[in-house]
Amino acid sequence: MRDKRIVIIKDLGLRKIRNELRMVLIQASNTEWDKIFNKMEEFRYDKDENRISLDDWTPSQLKQFRELQYLKNGNEEICRKSICMCYTCGKPDQDMYYNHPYRAWFCVECANLAKSHQTRIKAKKAHGIYNCDSDEEFSHSFRVI
Ligand SMILES: [Zn+2]
Repeated sequence: MRDKRIVIIKDLGLRKIRNELRMVLIQASNTEWDKIFNKMEEFRYDKDENRISLDDWTPSQLKQFRELQYLKNGNEEICRKSICMCYTCGKPDQDMYYNHPYRAWFCVECANLAKSHQTRIKAKKAHGIYNCDSDEEFSHSFRVI
């Protein structure tokens, strides 16, 4: 995939179809997330709903729990970085901008906001009143829209 890419749909009918398809995919992801979370809860609580201490888990239980945790986090990250929602604001019904350095999709509004923030950062740096490199890197990654 190219470094920068914008997907804009102007036709209202197509926008509606796109948004509904995104909601189906997000809902499927949420359903999977819930299943994994519920499996994790089975490790955390006994049949009487008492919390089980991590110290009481067997190494095998701990391994299974960590695998579920990894799966849950991966599922969540895949959904957040997909074109189905903006990585920053989470809106699912916007035209999207792909930002390769972050391997994620951002709505055009958030991408433009990040891009405009870069101009403000440069002005502040010129006056020696700004030194947050990670913020600057993030903003700079949106330079070509
Ligand atoms: Zn956004």
